[in-house]
Amino acid sequence: MDYPTLELFIAGEWRREERDTLPVVNPATLDVVGKLPVATATDLDDAAEAAASSFQTWRSTSAFERYQVLRRAAELLRERAREIGIATTIEQGKPASEAIAEVGAAADTFDWFAEEGRRAYGRVVPARRPGVRNLVLSQPVGPVAAFTPWNFPITIPARKLAAALAAGCTVVFKPAEETPATGLALARALADAGLPAGILNVVMGDPAAISTQLIRDPRIRKVSFTGSTVVGRQIAHLAADGIKRVTLELGGHAPVLVFDDADVEKAATLAAGSKFRNAGQICIAPTRFLVQENVYERFIDAFSARIRTLEVGNGLDDGTSMGPLAHNRRPAAISALVDDARERGARTVIGGEPIDRPGYFWQPTLLADVDANARIMQEEPFGPVAVAVPFTDVDDGIERANALPYGLASYLFTGSAATAAEVSDRIEAGMLAVNHLMLTSPETPFGGVKESGYGSEGGSEGIEDYLVTKLVSETW
Ligand code: NAD
Repeated sequence: MDYPTLELFIAGEWRREERDTLPVVNPATLDVVGKLPVATATDLDDAAEAAASSFQTWRSTSAFERYQVLRRAAELLRERAREIGIATTIEQGKPASEAIAEVGAAADTFDWFAEEGRRAYGRVVPARRPGVRNLVLSQPVGPVAAFTPWNFPITIPARKLAAALAAGCTVVFKPAEETPATGLALARALADAGLPAGILNVVMGDPAAISTQLIRDPRIRKVSFTGSTVVGRQIAHLAADGIKRVTLELGGHAPVLVFDDADVEKAATLAAGSKFRNAGQICIAPTRFLVQENVYERFIDAFSARIRTLEVGNGLDDGTSMGPLAHNRRPAAISALVDDARERGARTVIGGEPIDRPGYFWQPTLLADVDANARIMQEEPFGPVAVAVPFTDVDDGIERANALPYGLASYLFTGSAATAAEVSDRIEAGMLAVNHLMLTSPETPFGGVKESGYGSEGGSEGIEDYLVTKLVSETW
């Protein structure tokens, strides 16, 4: 299978020669598939300069012309979906069908924000004095630094880049070092769609060095990061020094409340299907299964039956429903959490071990009766491990769901509209799905509360983070 040559993209030029490189590893085979050029401090300076010097051009390009470029990029992504998806599977591990579908979702996101850019209206506010007009203008915030992770290497960048570009911002984009080819494919689609040079720049290498230099750079006016809460906190500190606006999409540890009036088997089957997508490496993955005590064992049986149908393997092979973990840090992190839970009395219903074959493979796992103090009840496993715990009534269930500092996604299965209303009201989360598990679409806001971050990506809210408000009060 072909894996593309990796390059930096700065001021409209592709750069790779005479730089240090880092290996890119296929997590299903451990083969080195590519060499990632490490951006130098000069590369980063050039990228910031390109974003700053092209900002005046892009912000004054009409919203309609920006829309045309973004729509063309969406079409190119659709045409290239298979080629890009295969590169994603090679570098990230997820089944090719999931990776190809993800490219389609990124294209839909470009379509959505292309339109939203045309609707970035201001307001006219009635004045207190005759003859005065108060205009509230929405304007692009300026050059953006965007940092994205490896788990959804095209949809997460698409949410940031499409919104920023539609708003009239320029961007320096750092894809995850584990998934550079997918990030570059997005940049190529935009360049081929006619995005002028300098408006989007792609750098990669040492994440901490890159984010530190770019966030401290006075030319960068806005920062958007998706990744762990630990890194998000560092980024927020750095941005605070420059009083820069920040969007943070951080960790989650999504609770799933299953009440005894729900269709328990259906809930278990749906939830298990969703949990192991992308080998569980999803910030909104349903993970803490809080099940009403009288249907607890029924739920566990149905959930583990669905797990038995999963085919773990190389994402390029037909029939694979779950690939490997994305990189070498994940297996050890997951083993530590699972071992700790078992030492504290958790029952291994199914799975519980790494898989003995080349690659970062881990068994799809369900742990039951997990102690509330086990680390896995506090720390997001970010892998194919689900935990189940019984609860008694609505108050007990909600208290357990809200017990963590995270508040990203949450899920509820119930047959009662009253329970749904009460949980919707009291759950501390940025998103709640009731009786299903689909929370992401370009049209709906995506974001967390508490230590899961702030800001929204997606929906009509998604462009707001890239716009600033200016009041013009005038009389003639
Ligand atoms: P990590 O924190 O080492 O890396 C996560 C991502 O952040 C990577 O893409 C990395 O390149 C980037 N990153 C790391 N340090 C950075 C820095 N100083 N500046 C800019 N970018 C930086 O974590 P990991 O081992 O890859 O994954 C572990 C945890 O990360 C998970 O448990 C999960 O909480 C979190 N994570 C969250 C998401 C999400 O979608 N919210 C995605 C991936 C990882």
